[in-house]
Amino acid sequence: MSTAAARITHLVGGSPWEGASERTGDVYNPATGAVTGHVDLASAGLVNEVVAAAAAAWPVWANTSLAKRTQVLFAFRQLLDERKHEIAALITAEHGKVLDDALGEVSRGLEVAEFACGIPHLLKGGFSENASTNVDVFSIRQPLGVVGVISPFNFPAMVPLWFIPVAIACGNAVILKPSEKDPSAAVAVARLWTEAGLPDGIMNVVHGDKEAVDALLTNPEVKAVSFVGSTPIARYVYETGTANGKRVQALGGAKNHMLVLPDADLDLAADAAVNAGFGSAGERCMAISALVAVDGIADELVSKITDRMRKLRTGDGTRGCDMGPLVTAAHRDKVSGYVEAGAAEGATVVVDGRDGEFDGGSDGFWLGPTLLDNVTPGMSVYRDEIFGPVLSVVRVPSYEEGVRLINANPYGNGTAIFTNDGGAARRFQHEVEVGMVGVNVPIPVPVSYYSFGGWKNSLFGDTHAHGTEGVHFFTRGKVVTSRWLDPSHGGLNLGFPRND
Ligand code: NAD
Repeated sequence: MSTAAARITHLVGGSPWEGASERTGDVYNPATGAVTGHVDLASAGLVNEVVAAAAAAWPVWANTSLAKRTQVLFAFRQLLDERKHEIAALITAEHGKVLDDALGEVSRGLEVAEFACGIPHLLKGGFSENASTNVDVFSIRQPLGVVGVISPFNFPAMVPLWFIPVAIACGNAVILKPSEKDPSAAVAVARLWTEAGLPDGIMNVVHGDKEAVDALLTNPEVKAVSFVGSTPIARYVYETGTANGKRVQALGGAKNHMLVLPDADLDLAADAAVNAGFGSAGERCMAISALVAVDGIADELVSKITDRMRKLRTGDGTRGCDMGPLVTAAHRDKVSGYVEAGAAEGATVVVDGRDGEFDGGSDGFWLGPTLLDNVTPGMSVYRDEIFGPVLSVVRVPSYEEGVRLINANPYGNGTAIFTNDGGAARRFQHEVEVGMVGVNVPIPVPVSYYSFGGWKNSLFGDTHAHGTEGVHFFTRGKVVTSRWLDPSHGGLNLGFPRND
């Protein structure tokens, strides 16, 4: 264990918090197993103080012109681009994903910052001249106030960036509660806002666990909460936040299926299954975890996937490997447990990641890419979100059975179809009950100007992240009906105007 573990603390009013924390959590380098940091875990009292300070700072930012807000956003975008390598290194050090993947995550966040630079256009309202005689009607969108963002461990920079640039561009103050497992990247990103010229108190970070989350969910000054994480917590956050009068969007877990039809290019499908199954060690909400092969091609597809898996190098994310470790020892053990349960329930273990060789520390949280065949819907390895490098092959007799399986699944985040038949692809995109669909693309990655979000147990609330839905989430609409007339044109009329 390292003796030089750093203190990771809150960012309040643009500066590191200087208080003493009653509780801290350990942060690891998953490739070595060493504790590299101790993160302060906020009490409810501290969260409430930070919310009060943000609420006091907010009116100045809400009344800052769009021209000035846009300058801050452009400056932030520039700083994020300049520091992306530093931020990627922090992600790899605490999450474990390989550097290249970490850089890709920052790039997706950068795109949301670029989208938010267009805020003057995005906030334009409608105007109707002469809606009634000499009466004009127009709409405006105004910020909410203090908003909370609660993010998961698997995208420590990208997920906060799905929300923060849009929330700030819309004129809100933000309290970010990042995952306590890998908190440093979020702090590094948040600090850039001060450098970009954002007034103190508008961007704050509080670290913590359930106590901090509950404080955000119950504080009346917090007007909206954007959450991303596992389904049980997403449901809890949605129910608690809305019961406390807040606007909530809560994105949950996933079980993403990739349906491969007999006419698909099987080399392309095998590449895609390996990339989407094992990229980021399967710790992506859009990872493919269930490969649905229409029988007849399943043996050949499994063989092609197996060949590719044998070439993957798992190890320390700074060493040019394909795949890194899992985030914690407890998570690695949980995922290994699913492999064991799958074998016990009758799945065929084609490639066993528990036997892998790893280019990293002997105490790292390792599990190699794992392939299970002949998985059936009753098995726990199929039912549960595993969130690790385990790909399950489910064999189905037909396209119809494949779609039935996907639609019966309680999750609905992402899915993909591999086929050379345009008609089949078109039918799939229409019939499948999932929020994000890939056609010969295994992971439909977030595109900043389209909103990102799943269906069913993968999202609670009805607003997806970023894009125009994000702008709507972080603002409320107002309609103004105005008449500028000579006062002599008044008169009493207690009814609604009639059109006849
Ligand atoms: P998690 O639910 O454990 O934690 C998410 C956040 O909630 C963290 O900030 C955590 O501190 C907080 N939290 C944890 N337990 C809590 C509790 N009991 N009460 C209140 N708050 C609590 O999720 P995770 O393990 O960090 O992230 C992985 C999960 O996130 C996976 O299920 C993955 O599918 C999901 N995810 C979904 C999307 C999406 O777009 N739908 C994107 C990324 C990740």
